[in-house]
Amino acid sequence: MTVIIIGSGFAGASCAWWLARLGVRDVIVLEREEMPGLHASGLNAGMARSYEEDETIAPLAREGIDFILNPPEGFTDKPLIECNGSLLLNPDRWTPTDGVVDIHAYLWAFINGAKAGGIKFLFGKKITDIKICPHDIIVNAAGAWAQEIANLEGAEDLDIKSYRRHLYCTPPMPDINPKWPFVWDIENKYYFRPESGGLLLSACDEEEVAPGTPPTNPKIREALAEKLMKFCPSFANVSIAREWCGLRTFAPDRRPVIRWDKKIRNFFWLTALGGRGVTCAASAGRIAAEEVLKCLSV
Ligand SMILES: Cc1cc2nc3c(=O)[nH]c(=O)nc-3n(C[C@H](O)[C@H](O)[C@H](O)COP(=O)(O)OP(=O)(O)OC[C@H]3O[C@@H](n4cnc5c(N)ncnc54)[C@H](O)[C@@H]3O)c2cc1C
Repeated sequence: MTVIIIGSGFAGASCAWWLARLGVRDVIVLEREEMPGLHASGLNAGMARSYEEDETIAPLAREGIDFILNPPEGFTDKPLIECNGSLLLNPDRWTPTDGVVDIHAYLWAFINGAKAGGIKFLFGKKITDIKICPHDIIVNAAGAWAQEIANLEGAEDLDIKSYRRHLYCTPPMPDINPKWPFVWDIENKYYFRPESGGLLLSACDEEEVAPGTPPTNPKIREALAEKLMKFCPSFANVSIAREWCGLRTFAPDRRPVIRWDKKIRNFFWLTALGGRGVTCAASAGRIAAEEVLKCLSV
C-alpha cells in the first residue's frame, strides 16, 4: 500500500514529514509544479496568529504555533518565526507570542525532513501521470485544486472553492520599525506588518476565482488606499513596490477538511486550510498522518 500525497504545499509537506516521523516510508508526494510553494504556501503573509474564534480551528492554531515556536530537535537550523507579537483590533487583543513565519524555511524544513525519512517527492508530476493501485491511499492536499482531484477520483463533492487575496509591499520607509507586531483590524478587514524595511499590507479582499494563477485586480489596490485613508491616514499615500495575489481555499463552513472521504475508500482530505494554513500546518499534517497510519495498521 503506497501513500500518495497530492500537493507539496504546507498541507502535503507537513503530512509527509509526520508520516516519516511515524515510520511510514512508502510515501510519494506528487507536485504538479517543478518546485514547491508556487501557490498559496509561497504567496502568503506568513502571520502566525493564535487567536481564533472558531472552536475547530482554535486548537489547530495553538498546536501549530507551538510547533513553530518549539520545533522538534533537528527540524531546522534556521529560526522559523520572528515573534514581534500581534495586535488585533476590533476586538482588541495583544498576543506577544504571535509572529511572522519564515515560510520558505518552514516549508523546506518539512520537505527536507520528510526526504531524510525516506519519502519521495516527484515534482512536475500530476496524479494522472502515475499508476495508482486500488489499495493505495490518496491524501488530497492539492489546495485550490482539491475539489478537482476529488471529482477525478469520484470522491465527495464538498464544494471546496478558492478565493483570491492580494498582498502589497511598500519600498523601505524610514519610520517603519521592523520590530512592530503585525496589526490586523478584524472588523474593518485590513492588516499590515513590517517587511524588508517597509510594510506588507492587505485589504483582506476575497473574490472567488477558479484554481490557477490569477492576475492581480487593480481595483483592490484602490480599495486598500480607501481603507488606509479611513483607518490609517498616515499610510494613505504609501507607494507600492510589489503586489501579488494568491488563492485561499475554503469549504462552505470555512473549516479545514481533514478527514476520510465518505464516498470512496482510501481517499483522505487535507485541505481548505483557508487563511490559516501556515499557522495550522503542523497540526493539520499530524492529524492526517495519524489517520493514514491507523488505516495502514488495520
Ligand atoms: C494572500 C494570502 C495570504 C495568506 N496569509 C496567511 C497567513 O498570514 N497565515 C497563515 O497561516 N496562512 C495564510 N494564508 C493561507 C495559507 O497560505 C494556505 O492556507 C496554505 O498555504 C495552504 O496550503 P496547501 O498546501 O493546502 O495549498 P497550496 O500551497 O496551494 O499547495 C497545494 C499544492 O498542490 C499542488 N497541486 C494541485 N493540483 C495538483 C495535481 N493534480 N497534482 C499534483 N499537485 C497538485 C499545487 O501545485 C500546490 O503546490 C494566506 C494565503 C494567501 C493566498
